[in-house]
Order: sequence, then C-alpha cells, then structure tokens
Amino acid sequence: MKLPIFLDYHSTTPMDPAVLETMLPYFTQTFGNAASRNHEYGWTAEAAVEKARTQVASLIGASDKEIIFTSGATESNNLAIQGVAQMYKEKGRHIITSPIEHKAVLDTCQYLESIGFELTTLPVDQYGRVSAEDVVKAIRPDTILVSVMFANNEIGSINPIAEIGRVCKERGVVFHTDAVQACGKIPVDVEKMGIDLLSLTAHKMYGPKGVGALYVRRRNPRVRLSPIVHGGGHERGMRSGTLNVPGIVGFGKAAEIAKARLQLDTEHSSRLRDKLWNAIRSRVDEVHLNGHPTERLPHNLNVSFAYVEGESLMMGIKELAVSSGSACTSASLEPSYVLKSIGVGDELAHSSIRFSVGRNTTDEEIDFAIERVVATVKKLRELSPLYEMVKEGVDLKSVVWTGHH
Ligand SMILES: *Cc1c(COP(=O)(O)O)cnc(C)c1O
Repeated sequence: MKLPIFLDYHSTTPMDPAVLETMLPYFTQTFGNAASRNHEYGWTAEAAVEKARTQVASLIGASDKEIIFTSGATESNNLAIQGVAQMYKEKGRHIITSPIEHKAVLDTCQYLESIGFELTTLPVDQYGRVSAEDVVKAIRPDTILVSVMFANNEIGSINPIAEIGRVCKERGVVFHTDAVQACGKIPVDVEKMGIDLLSLTAHKMYGPKGVGALYVRRRNPRVRLSPIVHGGGHERGMRSGTLNVPGIVGFGKAAEIAKARLQLDTEHSSRLRDKLWNAIRSRVDEVHLNGHPTERLPHNLNVSFAYVEGESLMMGIKELAVSSGSACTSASLEPSYVLKSIGVGDELAHSSIRFSVGRNTTDEEIDFAIERVVATVKKLRELSPLYEMVKEGVDLKSVVWTGHH
C-alpha cells in the first residue's frame, strides 16, 4: 500500500494506462497539426480528433458537432458564460447562478457584474441544492443565462438538473451547467435534461490534464457564442488555437472507458464510500455529514468532526491525501464558502474533511483510512475540554464565556 493514500479524486484522477497508450503515438509519430489540410499528417491528426469528439459527445448524449475542445473546464466555463454574455447582451444583461459554483463560474460571473451585467445568486437548501422553483422566481425578461452546476465538488450534492433545464427551456433562457464532477460518474444526457451548454474536463475522469470541452447545443435552440480567444478560427470559430491532439485523443479514450464502466465505477466507489462513512459514524460520535444523504455523487464523503481542531486533524491524518474544509487564501485560513453557504459554522467548517474515492481505491486503503481517522479524532477529543463538558452533560449554549480568543 502506497502512502499517503490518495482519497482526493475530486481534485484530479490518475490517468488510465489505456489512455496513455492511446495518446503516445500522437506525440512522436502521428504528430500532425489537425488544421493542416494539405497532407497526410494533418488528415491523420484531424481524423483522431474527430474520433475523440464522437467519444466525448457520446458520453453526454450529444452529437459530435456540438463539442468544442478547450484547455479544461475553467476555460469551458469562461467561454460559456462570457460567450453568452457577449452574444446576447442586446437582448438582456441578467445572469443567474448559485453560491456554491466552482470559482471558474463565480469569478467569471463577478467579472461580468463588474462590467455592467446584473447577477442573481440563487438560494441553496441545507444540502447545497438549488430548486427549479427558485430559478423560475429569479428569471426576468432580460435574463440571458442560468448557470447551475450539475454536482458540487466539495459536498457532492446533485442538483435537479432536468427540472432546471425544463423551466429554462419553457422561458427561452440559455442553461449552462458545470458538469465536471458528474461526467463519467453518473448518467448525464444533454437532450433528456434540457442542457444548452455543458462544461467538462478530462483530468477528473482518468484522462490527461489541460484538456476539456464545452458542449454547445446546435438545435432547439441553436446556441451562439462570442469567442473569447481569437485567431485561426478553429473549433467552428468558437475557440482558436492549434488543437492539443494527444490530449484530445486521451480525453476521447477516457470518455469511452468512463461510459463503458459507469455502472461498475459507481458500484465500486459507493461501496467503499459507504464503508468509510458507516465505520466513522458508528465509531465516532458528534460527526456530521455535509451534503445530501442520497442525492449525492457516489464517490463523495464530506464530514465535519465536532470538537476537534481542523489543523490538528489534518496533521493527524497526514497519511491520507484528503481536502479540508478550509481554503488557504494567501495569509489566512478561510472556511470553505460552500460549507458556509449551507450554514456550517466556521469551527465545524475548519474541522471538515472531504474524502473522495475512485477506481483505484481498495478495501485495504479504506480500512487503513478508517483506523487513522477514528484514532486521530479520539485522541484529539481526549485533549478537548469542550468535548469533555459535552460528555458530562453541560449545555454549551448555557455557558457564560469569559474572555475570547
Ligand atoms: C476541477 C473543476 C473545474 C476546473 O476544471 P479544470 O479543467 O481543472 O480547469 C471546474 N469545475 C468543477 C466543478 C471542478 O471540480
């Protein structure tokens, strides 16, 4: 067993060896530029890109002409949101999003707000889910875009995407979803779910880093985008720049494998995730699950451990590669904005851990993780006067505290 144990599959995934195998010839032998129209090198590269386009499209129920390759989901989100804003600004300047989006969506929306667009941030429930009714309430005659993520990367909650897609369609508003964490993990279908724009990335589904895609609907309705990168007119003019042929080929292969293994991966991940959670909650008290209990990604577990200090907890489990509920912003340790927006207090947010499992996670690794987590939390609580008071039946709310730290 290799230490530290990788339990951070939301941040990235190891590349599947079959993906690497498929990519290798495109670096050295079939190295042509997919835009070269005059010779065999170019044609071979173009054919490989078109095959990958079909593989990626097939994962999400799209047709291949609707896939635009990008450098990753950060770019896809920027292209979707800025592209719609620029293209439809004469129609209206109002954009709707949620507070728990990835920064690539939030910061792009805030940038647009700073240059004269109007932003509505939807409420979320205690599990971090958006409701279609709230989307309906927020839509105005000048709304040009709704951007709501498919599934959250911290707490794993899955939004009612098909319902949101339906209400957007009924009102003629373009619907974008950041589906990075959902693609290849749970079924995603742009037709059935009424999605107009969808962002995805290869490195979160066992493909290479630095390659992603944006799905852009071509019919009912045809969505038009202003490009944000100008140049040679690649990707139907929506994203100029020489295509990353090996990366795209790897992305296609990763999509094909993910589609074929969807059921298998889900069963494997959810079994190990449930094993971890069931062991933690049966052996440690005062633990809280963040995110929806059932409407959640099969590989996500986000837990707050009350009465332990976040940094000590992370130190105690440093043999596990996990994410904490604190984001290190330059100088200070800020609690996660996602946990904040579902009402988790600062203390609990700091002592939250996001575990995410994947294809390569084993029972042995989960058993090891369980022992490390349980032992660390128990040890830290032995040192906690607060925990001791709670166990003695003292109601902490009734305690009058003197001084403050
Ligand atoms: C990782 C991630 C992104 C960013 O994707 P990159 O390809 O790394 O730029 C965007 N959205 C979500 C939900 C993510 O988890």
